Amino acid sequence: MLKEKQIVKGNIQFIDEDGNGVFYVGKDKVLVRHVFEKEQVQARIQKRIQKGYVAELIRVDQKHPGRIKPACPIFEKCGSCHLLHMDAKAQSDFKKNQLIKLCKDAKLPLQVKDILTMEEPYHYRNKMIIGFQKDRNRHIQAGFYEEFSHKIIPYKRCLLHPEICDEIVEEIVSLMEKLRIEPYEEDKRRGLLRHVLLRYGKQSGKIMVVLVINQNVFPARKNFVNALLHKFPNITTIVQNVNTRKTSVVLGDQERVLYGKGYIEDTLCGLKYRISSKSFYQINHEQTQVLYQTGIDMLELTGNEKVLDAYCGIGTIGMSMAHKVKQVIGVEINKDAVNDAIVNAKINDVKNIRFICDDASAYMKKAQQRKERFDVVIMDPPRSGSNEQFLSALVNMKPKQILYISCNPITQVRDMQYLKRFGYVGDAMQGVDMFPNTNHVETVVLLSKGEVDSKKI
Ligand code: SAH
Repeated sequence: MLKEKQIVKGNIQFIDEDGNGVFYVGKDKVLVRHVFEKEQVQARIQKRIQKGYVAELIRVDQKHPGRIKPACPIFEKCGSCHLLHMDAKAQSDFKKNQLIKLCKDAKLPLQVKDILTMEEPYHYRNKMIIGFQKDRNRHIQAGFYEEFSHKIIPYKRCLLHPEICDEIVEEIVSLMEKLRIEPYEEDKRRGLLRHVLLRYGKQSGKIMVVLVINQNVFPARKNFVNALLHKFPNITTIVQNVNTRKTSVVLGDQERVLYGKGYIEDTLCGLKYRISSKSFYQINHEQTQVLYQTGIDMLELTGNEKVLDAYCGIGTIGMSMAHKVKQVIGVEINKDAVNDAIVNAKINDVKNIRFICDDASAYMKKAQQRKERFDVVIMDPPRSGSNEQFLSALVNMKPKQILYISCNPITQVRDMQYLKRFGYVGDAMQGVDMFPNTNHVETVVLLSKGEVDSKKI
């Protein structure tokens, strides 16, 4: 049994899927952040959790050559960036090795390619969610939510945000003080401003500000909006979102446009998109273009294909390849995203694409029942991955090619194991670093019908 605050030493055996370094003290498992495999470390025990003991890193005795000094003063506390202690090469090696291990453990014989990285891996996030609180002196602070908790970690500048967005947050804090707008207190369920969501159009430079408030009326609304617009002409729309529920979900259902059109516009892969507050939009503009191009290049297209873009968001993948195929159908559960997608097809004059608002699995089941066929199915599910209903309908539909794009290779590998049982196998896994400095990575795999492994069925 280890005690709280006890200092322990060890050699990092491996990094787990959450990015924790793991070492053992006798039989006790210790988890410590911001380390490399094989490093010799000293750590202070913080608490016991189901998996073992969580410890705080206090010293690295034998450093990995890729270790660097993290360029952020709140790196230890914040938890959003997991890998700022690694240089760029170490980060991409780390991500590639994680993928190799995943595929090996899952017995998927995929060749894991070198990760496609970003040249300037900072300031890439185009969406930010900020919370507010008061410090001991009753001054308002803006911050991020600590990983796995509701605690706000105050910040001034973030290495992942566009600088102008941090300036806007700073101005919002000063306006809150001036106009006496109280930050929402989760435990007491009082206060006005719960969160601010910012969306930044990388190509357009336009910014959307969503003010999430805890009641229907926003008393100092006019002054707040005017002052913000005056200082930041790049803000092209401001939306009031009402969320009075006891929930950690950021956005409520009701919205009111306070200024502008209520959405922003951006250009991606040469096409124009409108994006509303609740629609999903890939958070790294530059790498999304790399990701989509990689996926399109992996597919073998003749121009005659009927393509399903499942989990399509605002339609970006399907729209990017519509000119290379006969027809695309996009399926997406979020109705705001589907509305955006329909408008986006019109704006860009893409005529061979259609969007359906439905649960992807329910849609697949119905499509299978009416014997609808697709030559190519692109699937890009959320982190939880797909499910058996979707996958079983998919294999019954017998598409020639399945392009599986994922922001969580763990669930992707799980789903690919299922697909392999029905003969769908891939040659290679391509990682694209959409989230530099964090331990996340996006992956693309092209699957097609190979030999059915009858033993596994
Ligand atoms: N392909 C898009 C979006 C990927 S994110 C892009 O590249 O931008 C995953 C999307 O799946 C989100 O838009 C989310 O709203 C949607 N989604 C989540 N669960 C779903 C379900 N059960 N059925 C259909 N879409 C779903």
